[in-house]
Amino acid sequence: METLFWLIIILGVSLTLAYKRVELKTSTAALGAILVIYTILSDGGTLWVVILWVIFISLAILNVESLRREHITIRVLEVFRNMLPSLSKTERNALEAGSVWWEGELFSGMPNWQKLTELPAPQLTKEEQAFLDGPTEKLCYLLDDWEITHELLKIPDNVWVFIKENNFLSMIIPKEYGGLGFSPLANSMVLTKIASRNATVAATIGVPNSLGPAELLLHYGTEEQKKRWLPGLAKTDEIPCFALTSPRAGSDATAITDKGVVCRGKFGGKEIIGICLIWDKRYITLAPIATVLGLAFKLYDPDHLIGNKTEYGITAALIPTSLRGVEIGRRHFPINIPFQNGPTRGKNVFVPLDYIIGGPKMAGEGWRMLVELLSVGRGIVLPSNALGAAIAGVYATGAYARIRRQFNLPIGKFHGVGEVLARMTGYTYIMTAASRVTCTALNAGEKPAVPTAILKYHNTEMGRCVANDAMDIHGGKGIMLGPKNYLARNYESVPIAITVEGANILTRSLIIFGQGATRCHPFVLEEIAAVTDKDRQSGLVKFDKLLFAHIGYALSNAVRSFVMAYTHARFTGVPKRGATRRYYQHVNRYSASFALASDVAMLTIGGDLKRKELLSARLGDILSYLYLTSMVLKHYQDQGSPQDDLPIVEWSCRTLLYRAQEQFHGLLRNFPNRWFARLLRFLIFPRGRTYFSPSDELCQEVAELIINPTDTRTRLSYGIYKTIEPSNPIGLLQEAIELAEKVEPLERKVIEAYKVGQIDSSDASDQIDEAERRGIITAEETIQIREFDQKIMNLIAVDDFSSEDLARKTVRSAGKKIAKKPTKNPSARKKRSTGKR
Ligand SMILES: Cc1cc2nc3c(=O)[nH]c(=O)nc-3n(C[C@H](O)[C@H](O)[C@H](O)COP(=O)(O)OP(=O)(O)OC[C@H]3O[C@@H](n4cnc5c(N)ncnc54)[C@H](O)[C@@H]3O)c2cc1C
Repeated sequence: METLFWLIIILGVSLTLAYKRVELKTSTAALGAILVIYTILSDGGTLWVVILWVIFISLAILNVESLRREHITIRVLEVFRNMLPSLSKTERNALEAGSVWWEGELFSGMPNWQKLTELPAPQLTKEEQAFLDGPTEKLCYLLDDWEITHELLKIPDNVWVFIKENNFLSMIIPKEYGGLGFSPLANSMVLTKIASRNATVAATIGVPNSLGPAELLLHYGTEEQKKRWLPGLAKTDEIPCFALTSPRAGSDATAITDKGVVCRGKFGGKEIIGICLIWDKRYITLAPIATVLGLAFKLYDPDHLIGNKTEYGITAALIPTSLRGVEIGRRHFPINIPFQNGPTRGKNVFVPLDYIIGGPKMAGEGWRMLVELLSVGRGIVLPSNALGAAIAGVYATGAYARIRRQFNLPIGKFHGVGEVLARMTGYTYIMTAASRVTCTALNAGEKPAVPTAILKYHNTEMGRCVANDAMDIHGGKGIMLGPKNYLARNYESVPIAITVEGANILTRSLIIFGQGATRCHPFVLEEIAAVTDKDRQSGLVKFDKLLFAHIGYALSNAVRSFVMAYTHARFTGVPKRGATRRYYQHVNRYSASFALASDVAMLTIGGDLKRKELLSARLGDILSYLYLTSMVLKHYQDQGSPQDDLPIVEWSCRTLLYRAQEQFHGLLRNFPNRWFARLLRFLIFPRGRTYFSPSDELCQEVAELIINPTDTRTRLSYGIYKTIEPSNPIGLLQEAIELAEKVEPLERKVIEAYKVGQIDSSDASDQIDEAERRGIITAEETIQIREFDQKIMNLIAVDDFSSEDLARKTVRSAGKKIAKKPTKNPSARKKRSTGKR
């Protein structure tokens, strides 16, 4: 009995030390002290005392660094040296790009919440706020979606002039060069607002404010290059584009076949050493109207004119489009969102070496430059554009679900619709939280590559779902195109954000975890550096320290995962009390399980994890859900923790954590090594899968918040174009639900009067007149009801056109073409002539 007591004590202390991640020396001392007491009290005679001392001494020896280095570490190091796949320069660049922020805490299995909670709330400067409320508001007012997307298929001239005059294309260029010098947060909020009104203009403004010539120059350009280009770009005298993608190289951009060969040639009348370029690019935004191309190509120097190397790799240069041999001007037609996008080709375009961004010394550094910049930019433009469309979508749909009645009820009251409204609202809240908090971290100087990839993927995917849901709830109203349709173009534009800057399937499968695992892991990157250290002795010393710290970390995560899973994370310390406390605790729990699962996956699958994309994707999803839950909690805190918003916070956190749980389950079901899969299941789900998704009741609570003119609705829609003016349907929808609050009680009076027989007429319109005649409502109230009804009818109306108006080609001219090229297939001819298909 006494032995059992001491064994329990020793086991309990060991688990506590591991749970608290106490370092090896202190743990050894603590366990040693307990063992001494046990030995004295048990007179030192039992077999257990001997066994425990043997285990303890083995543990204690690990504290002697020289011994463990020479006998253990050196062997492990050899295995790793043979096992580690050699990293290409491209992969190394990708791994080392950017910085590690909150995602590193999630990866540690023991997040330090202070790091997140101490980040200030998002705050624009006065000037940025004035720009959002002034020129951005005015620009939104000027935009006519139907005119742009159907009538002109381009941005009208007056809008271009306004964009140029107000420097919209140079938000990221510092003031010293004539730009606006805005922060990432301001850049994001301006784009969000524009995207809530028009996708074409948002895409046009987004590109120069993302990865492109200006951004490249600011980070890598020589002073001369900055002076040459930045003032023109700031004033929009120069229109930039960035050309990387080519027909053979899309997602695998490093496979571009565009070439630059170092050679002698004539430029400006002088014989110089320069580069002769050939390229064939496609999908390039702004290319048709660009004056300067940021061009990515592979540089070769076969005659060794600039050094000893023959191949330099991907290089970026600025090419004026006025040079002989540059071809621009034709347009692609991106899914009915007619921003300028098209191919560009170049044939034997000769440029000086100092056209390379950063000068000749940056030859071959193009890929590193792109990856580094993308690690920030990816988190701003596309996530903000998706967010603007989502906020507008949910704001409009919530109001529409209130004013659109079927079966005598606003459709938002039906639980089936309520579930969809809750999803739209929750997703929009998550997207807002992720954008605002991450951009605030970018403002503070962080360059976190993994969170920006998470934002790119999840904001655009959630945006896609919100766009779908909005269409479903609007029914036919969303489908009929025309000036009155405020949804369909956003719906159509969804695949653009999904595809650009790393197509989403690839981002999920390869980037989030593939990059995250190594970049954010507390040890792996340093371990790789130690393993590949050319000074083998120094590598051994470093590797030894890292290896034992890593083992302790993995043991700690195993214990933390099991204990928190078993206790439903009730006892883990978190910074918040109150309603959100449990979500913080569950993030702690899943963070430990995630860190453990990642380590086991990397250890047992190794480099093959890159090819097992679905396992990597699931781990990436878990990391993403934990990241997004933390963003929701931080955003709620930043907003002053309003009680009214709690149902949305609860919906969001529950949904995200439930999905994290399900992705763990999927990972374990598919884990190749079944023994490790069982062990992981025991440590992650000792009591099974116990987390639930949001309840039906919660969904309806969330729906009520968005179909009524609540403060929550106002907070959720902050930063979009919602002004109540005749050309803005979403402003008018808001006006209608505010009016509904006043008019619906009057309508109810009429209905009640009919029910108790005070009114005879069964026709709804006649009932109103009769109610007035019988003094049930006043004349003024009758007018209010009629005006309200008229507004509703205007809002639910759709457009119709004559066939001639709809046709882009007259039937006669189309017929002529057919007549000119008669088909040889007589049956096809017959089908055409009868018009049958
Ligand atoms: C509207 C628009 C604007 C653009 N603007 C620019 C621009 O300004 N400058 C520029 O250089 N480029 C631009 N692009 C190009 C864009 O970056 C590419 O379209 C993108 O990289 C994907 O390439 P792809 O279209 O050739 O698709 P592919 O590379 O052919 O990919 C097809 C599908 O396969 C998936 N896939 C590919 N490899 C993997 C993998 N290993 N694992 C899992 N899935 C994978 C992708 O996720 C995608 O779903 C633009 C594209 C569009 C559509």
